[in-house]
Amino acid sequence: MQKQVPIDSDLFTWPAAEPKLKASQCYDCGNVIFPINTSCPKCGGINLKDMELKTKGTLWTWTSQEYFTKGLNDYKDPEDFKPYFLGYIELPGQVRVESRLLVNDASELKIGMEMEMVIVPFRVESDGTETMIYAFKPV
Ligand SMILES: [Zn+2]
Repeated sequence: MQKQVPIDSDLFTWPAAEPKLKASQCYDCGNVIFPINTSCPKCGGINLKDMELKTKGTLWTWTSQEYFTKGLNDYKDPEDFKPYFLGYIELPGQVRVESRLLVNDASELKIGMEMEMVIVPFRVESDGTETMIYAFKPV
């Protein structure tokens, strides 16, 4: 099996049988912050604890990206480019997470639909190591 490393060690638990996004929660106001932070953007508090986010939520909104982005594993050549999708996933009682959405077509997306987090390859490094990133896909 290829070596797999997270794109950022503070972003999600990895390796893990059931990976989870890492977040912070403010002791003072209860606000959930993703990604991990050292202060609360809501109240300015600095008493935060680490927490893991739910892996399922609902699609809050989405958009398509219709320009070539260097570094995405599946679009090395601008000629091969196809639009891809980004959105916000509402994790109930926690926070909205911005994410790539793993669908092929806008017709697969509907605001409010159930989505789940997955860890997928982002790119392959020159030594063959796969750099992994989180994404959400329809349940
Ligand atoms: Zn706070």
